[in-house]
Amino acid sequence: MTRFDFIILGAGAFGLATAAELRLSGHRVAVVAPKGGAASAVAAGMIAPAFETAIDGLSVEQANILKAGRILWADFATRTGVHLQHMPAEWRGEGADRLAIALERNEFEYSYMPDHQWIVTEEDAKLDPAAALEVLSEGVERIDALARSVAFKDGVWTVDYGTGTASAPQMVISTGAAAAIEGMPETVKNLIGKIVPIRGQIGITHERFSDHVIRGPGAYIAPVNAGPYEGGSVVGATMEEGVRELATDAALCERMMNAAWALLGHEPVEIEMEWRAGIRGASPDGMPMAGPVGDGLHVALAPRRNGWLLAPLVAGQVVAGIEGLTLPEPALDPLRFNPSH
Ligand SMILES: Cc1cc2nc3c(=O)[nH]c(=O)nc-3n(C[C@H](O)[C@H](O)[C@H](O)COP(=O)(O)OP(=O)(O)OC[C@H]3O[C@@H](n4cnc5c(N)ncnc54)[C@H](O)[C@@H]3O)c2cc1C
Repeated sequence: MTRFDFIILGAGAFGLATAAELRLSGHRVAVVAPKGGAASAVAAGMIAPAFETAIDGLSVEQANILKAGRILWADFATRTGVHLQHMPAEWRGEGADRLAIALERNEFEYSYMPDHQWIVTEEDAKLDPAAALEVLSEGVERIDALARSVAFKDGVWTVDYGTGTASAPQMVISTGAAAAIEGMPETVKNLIGKIVPIRGQIGITHERFSDHVIRGPGAYIAPVNAGPYEGGSVVGATMEEGVRELATDAALCERMMNAAWALLGHEPVEIEMEWRAGIRGASPDGMPMAGPVGDGLHVALAPRRNGWLLAPLVAGQVVAGIEGLTLPEPALDPLRFNPSH
């Protein structure tokens, strides 16, 4: 058995952002997760409080949490080395009126040309998810395995991952949309049981469509600036509630690609595209569950669409819980879903 200060289950944006914070504070951190399978790795990487607030019709309170997440990114990127890319984001086409009203109500800065159904904002940013996950993994011990069970005894959590065990007095659960693991307390099983999976399909290509984010009815387009598709683009993304299947659906992908061509004002042409799918986990109110749940156990789960945007904020909230401080965002307290809370 190997002993750590913290064990984190899950190597997506939430798990690795939390691991990075703890590692930067000098702790010995183990991250247990199988290789691949994180929704975070297939995401577009938009850090988009403005358009996400407007598109999803969020409340002012929720918009403020997204804004807080965006503000934290600047410092988090500097401290961890994640490359945060500043670029404008556009909306083109139908729905611009409604979005402009939402942007105005939530006090985002934007320009709007009603005659052209066109909005642009400088409030949103972007990162390259695979590169960010790699940077956030630096300095943490990775155990590339699925956690099979957990157990708590004498103030210590032990994780069994099949070929070995690891233990620590505190553990963070950031397993995305996955099911609960044997040995988790009922409180955590109940919280995980409330998470709804939402499949997102996204295409990646070597073609460069734009040097900034373009969004519109039925699709968005974002540039890829790192990794094997550097210089290319992504086209996303579906929102398929209740779907856990990772195989992609050709008809839905084609519809999305046609919407992307329409956004670009281009007739559809044949291009090489790799389609991928990821499963987002969503809480009942669409906002993450982040913080302590008792006995040295903490959760960082269920952001729905904005896991990358909210990763530094969620990591900060988990660390505050670990340190016994007041949670910076009480609205994200996981125990809000606990009937006895
Ligand atoms: C197509 C698509 C596009 C998106 N675009 C954006 C975007 O532009 N901006 C944005 O902010 N968000 C975006 N998102 C949402 C974002 O990706 C998610 O909200 C975020 O990735 C959730 O991170 P997570 O760490 O909670 O979960 P995940 O990234 O899914 O990570 C979960 C981790 O837990 C591991 N795990 C599961 N079970 C176990 C177990 N038993 N033991 C150990 N490990 C386990 C998994 O292997 C994985 O490593 C997008 C999502 C999709 C699908």
